Amino acid sequence: MQFYMPVRVFDEADCVAKHAVYLASFGKKALIVTGKTSAVKCGALHDVEDALKENGTDWCVFSDVEENPSVETVVRAAHFAREEGADYVIGIGGGSPLDAAKAIAFLLKREIISASDLYNASADPCALDVIAIPTTCGTGSEVTGVSVLTVHEKKTKSSIPHKIFPKAALIDGKYLHSAPVSMMINTAVDALAHMIESYESVKADDYSRAAVRQGMRLWAQSADILRGKRKASDEDYARMMRASTFAGIAIAQTGTSIPHALSYILTYDLKMPHGMACGYFLARFLKEADDEDRKELLSLAGFESLEQFEAYMQEVFPDVTVPAETLQRAYDVVVKNTARLKGCRFAPDAECLKRIAGL
Ligand code: NAP
Ligand code: FE
Repeated sequence: MQFYMPVRVFDEADCVAKHAVYLASFGKKALIVTGKTSAVKCGALHDVEDALKENGTDWCVFSDVEENPSVETVVRAAHFAREEGADYVIGIGGGSPLDAAKAIAFLLKREIISASDLYNASADPCALDVIAIPTTCGTGSEVTGVSVLTVHEKKTKSSIPHKIFPKAALIDGKYLHSAPVSMMINTAVDALAHMIESYESVKADDYSRAAVRQGMRLWAQSADILRGKRKASDEDYARMMRASTFAGIAIAQTGTSIPHALSYILTYDLKMPHGMACGYFLARFLKEADDEDRKELLSLAGFESLEQFEAYMQEVFPDVTVPAETLQRAYDVVVKNTARLKGCRFAPDAECLKRIAGL
């Protein structure tokens, strides 16, 4: 067994203010990477700017990261940061800005900034230091080395081959106060998918499963807020954020599995949010799993049966339809990916993959 999680995690209320000196200590000028508006709306950008100001560290902001960030955006941000003389990177946001921050930090270590290095597996994987501040409760990107980018040339999304773990993650549930319910649902289901898929990986072991079990317990305590049954409390936000971080710790060990692999085509073709796209396959994936695994996963997430889980997913994602040709394209891509198929504990054959895809 092995466990590698080199990210220093701070998880507490007012985390950024409490660790301001530390946050400001990584260099002379930080590049802050955000999405278009959420870093301002949730208050995280303000907290980070205050922390840097108080401690005499300069910064510049790149606030143009789109959802499912593209290679082009990352290259543009790296040019901007180089002109500004930034020497470390702070990512604030959901998985999109956090993943972009890692890829930008990688490009900034190259003499010449070039998109071709991003997917060159033999390139030196060194990167500038990255600090990650999550504002969604889904990707766990703050504790993984993964950076997923949209590759328009290939009409899909794909992880860069370099593992770029943030130096630290500053986690504070208060940044979820500004989140619309739809974003909470999409991202919390992404975290759930990470836990289920990690558990079903051939790489899963006692260490990664400990993270899944604790993440699931936290997730289950707040799952009803996604159905709009009650208003989320501060504790719910902190729990959902922490569940997502535990899920990230698990996938940092095992990677994701079939639902994620299939989801990328739905997101590319239909602009479907990442969590919704993974969630679309989740119940059918669980159905194919070994009986004992399915029972444990469902029970950890607070469900008595697969039918109850399906009903829950239907309730949080009503009326999701995917055209057959998109499912077929997703299937066609994944069926060729033998590493993905073999990486799953029940190693789906072509027929089984068809059932998971819903074909
Ligand atoms: P996201 O794409 O980062 O953000 C989704 C939307 O939520 C954006 O419109 C964003 O606004 C908004 N938002 C973010 N935080 C908010 C807040 N606190 N309040 C209000 N609105 C907020 O969402 P995500 O699901 O976290 O990330 C998805 C990406 O992560 C995908 O590209 C996926 O492939 C990747 N991913 C990475 C990993 C990994 O291990 N690295 C794992 C799974 C998925 P703004 O645009 O204004 O920011
Ligand atoms: Fe995901």
